[in-house]
Amino acid sequence: MKRIYMDHSATTPVDPLVVDAMLPYFSEMFGNSSSLHSFGMEAAEALARAREQVAEAIGASPEEIIFTSGGTESDNLAIRGVIPHDAGKKHIITSVIEHPAVLNTCAFLESMGHDITYVPVDADGIIDLQELKGSIRDDTVLISVMHANNEVGTIQPIEEIAKIAKENDIYFHTDAVQTVGKVPVNVDDLGVDMLSISSHKIHGPKGAGALYVRKGTVIEPIVFGGNHERGLRSGTENIPGIVGLGKAMSLASELLGTDAKHMQEMRDSLISRVFDALPDVRLNGHPTQRLPNNVNLSFKYVEGESMLMMLDMKGIAVSTGSACSSKSMNASHVLTSLKLEDDYIHGSLRISLGKENTMEDVDYVVESLKEIVLKLREMSPLSNS
Ligand code: PLP
Repeated sequence: MKRIYMDHSATTPVDPLVVDAMLPYFSEMFGNSSSLHSFGMEAAEALARAREQVAEAIGASPEEIIFTSGGTESDNLAIRGVIPHDAGKKHIITSVIEHPAVLNTCAFLESMGHDITYVPVDADGIIDLQELKGSIRDDTVLISVMHANNEVGTIQPIEEIAKIAKENDIYFHTDAVQTVGKVPVNVDDLGVDMLSISSHKIHGPKGAGALYVRKGTVIEPIVFGGNHERGLRSGTENIPGIVGLGKAMSLASELLGTDAKHMQEMRDSLISRVFDALPDVRLNGHPTQRLPNNVNLSFKYVEGESMLMMLDMKGIAVSTGSACSSKSMNASHVLTSLKLEDDYIHGSLRISLGKENTMEDVDYVVESLKEIVLKLREMSPLSNS
């Protein structure tokens, strides 16, 4: 059976060039980068090279890169790191549609007595800048707003938020886990103080990531130990993973133009052909300010889970943002924040394209989706189509 993977916002296959770069660091070059002998030096050199690759891909300096275990840890370090442990009550501003790595970190800080403001978004998922400005307080230490949303693909006006943060002398962190390799990510152009990266979303290995921390940004560690990563992230470095992240970042920036164009052509074709084929469909997220690989559609009268399972039987892997996603029974907090009508909220599908997908894959997905939605609607008591 044909197998088509279109769930690249969840994770991506590791690029063979990344695998090749990593392999020697599992075997002959297995050293600990802190060791003083030649084995250690090989590992330290690999670490330094990967740091340069990551820095170069986002326009940063190598000293501004802290390696972590992935996007979740980078978000935790950025947010918990700026709240000094000995200071009084502090305030953080974020958005209602952040990834749980940000939302649950904020919820934890709230439980510890800090204040968090969750700024709403409009129907396309764009953050309300007036509300954001209005929520700034004298004790606001951080604004954390994601670069692009992982469910609906909306890209935020990061440069404008950065300006607001700067004018008010507040640190600004962005979760760029979904944007690296899909849109240009340059820390100076964006104007951010901190930026989270995850390797497995960009054809690198799982369990590796980085946090960019602009020179002069004062943060404290959340993991203590042997003072690796300038004391900000202790623990023997995951050298193969970090080498893979470095290679994946280089490839992502080298191929950005061609890969993003290819994904965007498939995205636009998929959207327009589904709209042509089926009534009662809506596109969730911003129509143009969206990731080139993100298609998030809601189909009236059908359940997302039913579509997902029937697509899976045809070998097509996508995800759903409605009930039961991530094994939870709640509707997606992102779709809820977009104030989607109830009729549409449970019938959503996120199709996230990747560089290895083809227009033939899109043909097969559109045909399969059409057949499945029509079949499900025939069975639905709510539908008269
Ligand atoms: N932030 C965003 C926007 C994500 O999409 C994800 C993963 O889905 C994460 C953070 C977490 O990254 P990781 O899986 O590397 O911990």
